Formats: sequence, C-alpha cells, structure tokens
Amino acid sequence: MHKITIAIDGYSSCGKSTLAKALAQELNYKYIDTGAMYRAVAWYALKNGIIDQDQNINNNLLLANLNKIDVSFEFNQHTQQSDVYLNGHNIESNIRTMEVSSIVSKISSIKEVREKMVALQRIMGEGKGFILDGRDIGTHVFPKAELKLFMTANTDIRAKRRQDEYFSKQQYFSLEEVKQSLIDRDNEDINRQENPLIQAQDAVVIDNSDISREQQLAFVLKLIEDLKLISE
Ligand code: C5P
Repeated sequence: MHKITIAIDGYSSCGKSTLAKALAQELNYKYIDTGAMYRAVAWYALKNGIIDQDQNINNNLLLANLNKIDVSFEFNQHTQQSDVYLNGHNIESNIRTMEVSSIVSKISSIKEVREKMVALQRIMGEGKGFILDGRDIGTHVFPKAELKLFMTANTDIRAKRRQDEYFSKQQYFSLEEVKQSLIDRDNEDINRQENPLIQAQDAVVIDNSDISREQQLAFVLKLIEDLKLISE
C-alpha cells in the first residue's frame, strides 16, 4: 500500500488530535502529537524553576537546559495510544492541564525550542505513513505533505469541548476562563515570529463546529479517496 504524510494544523481545541487518531487507526498510520512535545518542554520549565510565579520565562536558563530535555513517545498497550515521555518519564497525564496550557505558547515561541522540536519531528516522521498535528506541520515541518488539513471551529464550541475535557480529568474551570485561555493561546500562536500558525495555501479547511466526529472522519477518508492520494 502506497503511504503518504498527513499534516493537520489549526487552532487550539479544534479536535485535531481526535481526527488524527481516528485516521491513524483507519489507515494504520502512526500519529505524532507535536503539541505534546511543546507541552513537555513547558512542563520541564515549570518543574525546574525556569518560570516564575508571574509566568516570566528565564530564557537563558531554558536555553542552557535545552540539551537536557529529551522528549520521546512510547506506545501504551493499555490505551492503545502513544504517551509522551520527558527524560524517560511518562508525563502524559501531567501536560494537559490549564497550568501547562497557559504557558506553552510562550515556550513554543522561542526560536531554539522550535528548532529542536522541528528537527525531532522531521526525524520521527521521516518516511511515509505518518499523521502529525500541530500549528506549522503543513507550512514548515513537512511542507511537501501530500495531504494538508487546516481545522477550525467556533470559539464557544471549542471552549465547551475543552472544558468538558478538563472536567473529565477533575479540573474545574469556568467556560469564560477556558475560552479566554484558548483565545490567548491562538493569538500567541498566530502572532509569533517563528513559524506562526497560518493556513497552508494548499490545505483543505475543515470547520467542525456543526459536524460529528464520524462525519469529519468520513469526509477526510472520502477526500483521500477522491484525490487518489493512496493507491493499492
Ligand atoms: O496541540 P496543543 O494544543 O497540545 O499544542 C500546545 C501548544 O504547542 C500550542 O498552543 C502551540 O503554542 C504549540 N505548538 C506549536 N507548534 C506545533 C504544535 C504545537 O507551536 N506544531
């Protein structure tokens, strides 16, 4: 089977990873969650005194520590998904918190952090049969990806989805708080200097405000079929 690279970019909490995981399962592809990698660096910074109480980042200290930050993925047989590891420790359950979300975009805007993560992503996703989701996959990491999707959804709907996700992990925040955090993160991702969040010219836009996960998956599978991207 001829395999391709699929790049999924878009705004925060648009269901990129939900679609990526479903596609990976359907196509028997490997999924790389690049957001988890930046979250892992943010987690390291939080745990190593690199960020103060006012969320100021000590850039020099972070850069001095960059070569001590080893991010990797390992398949979890129990959940049937890949978990992110920081220096050999599974931190999957630590990184999807409001604490990490509120700092990750500042961390990901640092040039040296991006260079390190992008280099790693290119090694991990080398070859074909990979689906990567993030902010700059189709524009920068794999600009030659055969299929590029750009995802968006209504901000209120995204906030509600993210709030439900927090609730399911016993993290309680108001809808307003969650919504503001999404808006702030998107703004930082769009306005940063280094590989900002931008729609690739050749990306197919998916607005999933009013469609189900199943409809979304069916749409992309049909797209792949119609574009004859995967042949036997
Ligand atoms: O996808 P997720 O919401 O987990 O990503 C967390 C953050 O990591 C984003 O808000 C963004 O700042 C950063 N990110 C990035 N480039 C990527 C993936 C994520 O800058 N390719």
